[in-house]
Formats: sequence, C-alpha cells, structure tokens
Amino acid sequence: MDASDNTLRYDINVKIAIIGGGIGGLTTALALRHFGFEPEVFEQAPELLEVGGAIAMWPNAVRVLLKLGVGEKVIEHAGVIEHIRWQHRAGKSFNQTRLPTKAVPAVALHRADLQSVLLDALPGESIHLGHDFTSCQQEHGAIRINFTSQSPVRCDVLIGADGLHSQLRDQMLDGDPPSYRGYTVWRGITGRWSKGLEPATAIEIHGRGQRFGIGPVGNGRIGWWASANEKDAWERAATTEQQTLLKLFDEWCAPVGEIISATPTEAILRNKVSDRASTQSWGLGRMTLLGDSIHPTTPNLGQGGCMAVEDAAVLARCLAKEKDPAQAFRAYEKCRYSRTAAIAGCSRLYGNIGQWESQLGAWSRGVMLSIVPGTVTRQLLKLIFDYDAFTVRI
Ligand SMILES: Cc1cc2nc3c(=O)[nH]c(=O)nc-3n(C[C@H](O)[C@H](O)[C@H](O)COP(=O)(O)OP(=O)(O)OC[C@H]3O[C@@H](n4cnc5c(N)ncnc54)[C@H](O)[C@@H]3O)c2cc1C
Repeated sequence: MDASDNTLRYDINVKIAIIGGGIGGLTTALALRHFGFEPEVFEQAPELLEVGGAIAMWPNAVRVLLKLGVGEKVIEHAGVIEHIRWQHRAGKSFNQTRLPTKAVPAVALHRADLQSVLLDALPGESIHLGHDFTSCQQEHGAIRINFTSQSPVRCDVLIGADGLHSQLRDQMLDGDPPSYRGYTVWRGITGRWSKGLEPATAIEIHGRGQRFGIGPVGNGRIGWWASANEKDAWERAATTEQQTLLKLFDEWCAPVGEIISATPTEAILRNKVSDRASTQSWGLGRMTLLGDSIHPTTPNLGQGGCMAVEDAAVLARCLAKEKDPAQAFRAYEKCRYSRTAAIAGCSRLYGNIGQWESQLGAWSRGVMLSIVPGTVTRQLLKLIFDYDAFTVRI
C-alpha cells in the first residue's frame, strides 16, 4: 500500500472514517466528537446488539467514559466492584483485596448495555451498519475504502477498530493469524443472585487448569466466566455448552454449579483465548488501528476493552493537537505502545499461571496468591487503574 501521500493538511471538517462499531470504534467516535470532529462509523453487522457476556470497565476506562459524558449512564446499568477475592475450587479463600481507588468506580455490566449507552450518545446517521470493509487504497490525497456489497467511500483519515481479525491490520501490517494461548473461555450472565455471594465482590476461583470467575453486573444479575485448558475429551464431546461446563466444574464449591445451571445454554458464549505479540508498527500515513485490531489482549485482567477506551481518548487528543493527521497518528501510537504492550504481557503471564494444571503448579500458585500482601496487589492495580488518558503526555 502506498503510504507516501501524507501531504493533506488537516482541517476540522476532514472526513474521518472508523471501521468497526465495537467498544473501541464507538468510544473513538464519541471522543472525536468531544473535540469537534464528525467521524463516521462503518460496521459490518446489520444490527449492533452485543450478545451475552459481561464486561468489566475498570477505573482507567470509567474515567474516560465520565469525561465523555456517558460514564454516569454506564454506572447506572452496572454492578460496582470494590473487592476482589481469590479462592480454591474447594472454597478456601487464598486472598482478598480492596480496590485501591474509590473516586472513580470499577464496574461490570452487560455488554449490550455498554454498547447501547455509547450508541445513544452518537448521532444515528453517523453509524453505517451492514458495511463489511474489505480493502482500501490511497488515491489523490484521499483514501478509498471498499466494502463487500456497499459502494466505496472516500475519506481523508482512516481508523481501524475492527477487532481481533482486523482486515485493515492484515492489509497494512501482516496477514499473520492471532496466537492461540491453549485455553478456552466461556462467559454468561444469570439473573439470579446467589445467596452467600458478598456484594460488590469479584471472585476468581482456581482449580487445576481451570478457573471460574463471578461478579455483580447490576440489576441483581451475576456475570461469570470459566476457563479450561484444551482437552480432546471436552473438545470433541457432542454436548451443550452448559453440559460441558457442568461436567468440567463438577464438585467445585458453591455457587459454581448453581450459576452454570441457571444460565441457558444458548446464552453461554465460548472463545478460544488468543492475543498477538506486541508491535510498534500500528499504521501507515493517515491510517491507524486501535483496540483489539492492534493489541488484542487475553481476558485475564479484563483490560482489552478498557485499553480500547483509553486508545480512543489519546487518539482524539492527538488528532486535535497535531495539524498533520499522519503525525497525529504516529504520536498516538508512540504514546500507547508501551502501556498496551505491558498490559497484554501481564495479562498473558497471569493467564499462563492461572491455567497451571500440574499438582505442583496449582499448589505453588495457591501459595503465591496467599502470601502476596494486599499493599502489593493494590500498588499493582493502581498502576493500571490510575492511568488518565486525558492527561497523559502526548
Ligand atoms: C471472554 C472475554 C472476556 C473479556 N472481558 C473483558 C472485560 O471484562 N473487560 C474488558 O475491558 N475487556 C474484556 N475483554 C476484551 C474485550 O472484549 C475486547 O478487548 C474489546 O471488545 C475490544 O474492542 P474493539 O472495539 O477493539 O473490538 P471488538 O469489540 O471486537 O469490535 C470490533 C467491531 O468491528 C466490527 N468489524 C469486524 N470486521 C469488520 C469489517 N471487515 N468491516 C466492518 N466492521 C467490522 C465487528 O463486527 C465489531 O463490531 C474480554 C474478551 C473476552 C474474549
């Protein structure tokens, strides 16, 4: 692709196209509007209705959402998290910590609720559904973007927020597939709050090569996730997701079985856990990437979506500050690289340890979790949560 044509002078009316209407794309559209731009979002899906699954928005993301005027609504729909507890599959608690920040809350909510809050804050006419991006070319100082069955669109600046299997990334950087990390994650939401669950507490339960997480997602609902190392036996088993999970998590402490049983099988989502090695090269000329399209992150820290939200704020600030969009994008990429690489790396490591399956590995993990002082955990969490995408140096 020819990226040499960077001569376009920036203008507030420049046409900014965003590919992808997920958390990253919609938040970027909002952040750009905050600075007076009028971006257009092109989304492949005919409708934007996120199914299943909860998503945690930690203070680093909630801070951005509050600044963009949607944070209060997000909090209204969410469950607040004030404590995290780690425990053994038999129920014994390893450790517990209070979250370090109270000024900006940590929350978890249904993904559909997050998406509708973001969508409601954007003009309907700026969201173009049913636009499946296939390729782009730089021509005559503009960028032509092509879709499977819609007319091409010309824009001046192109932002890829098209997720883990990004087409724009494939075209600009490489066609390498994401790296599978050897385990699967299921997630769901149940309407039933179990007796015995402490309020405002996220719990992570550890077994050998398996974990189960539980947390409040607002309106009395519970969001949960489960992970298991790849095993031929359950991979090949022709049963429902619910039956697979009930078998895998048989004999785990309460309320694991109760929560799985209370979630209809069709509402259970399953993903193979993947990410990509970090790269410093994120874009070309007046094109860049954000969120999972450039730094997909394993779900272990619940930070993938939060990183996309942070990207959105930094990218919008850079475009507002720099006259030349290509320079703005390079400044944005430089600002975001080390943080996203560090968080993706920590998330991968935490997941690898969390999935240790041998008896010795599981025992060592339990010991490590038990002896980490609360002050250390809180310091580590503070490093992640205190990041302010609106004030970080760009
Ligand atoms: C099990 C699991 C649990 C997670 N939990 C959390 C959590 O608690 N907190 C958190 O912050 N993150 C979490 N994440 C990560 C989070 O889901 C992602 O990081 C986040 O969704 C990334 O947002 P995005 O907008 O970059 O990509 P996506 O959400 O993937 O959105 C991409 C959008 O682009 C569209 N698109 C794709 N291709 C095209 C195309 N060719 N043309 C047009 N549109 C296209 C897609 O339809 C989609 O709407 C979790 C992930 C998993 C798998």
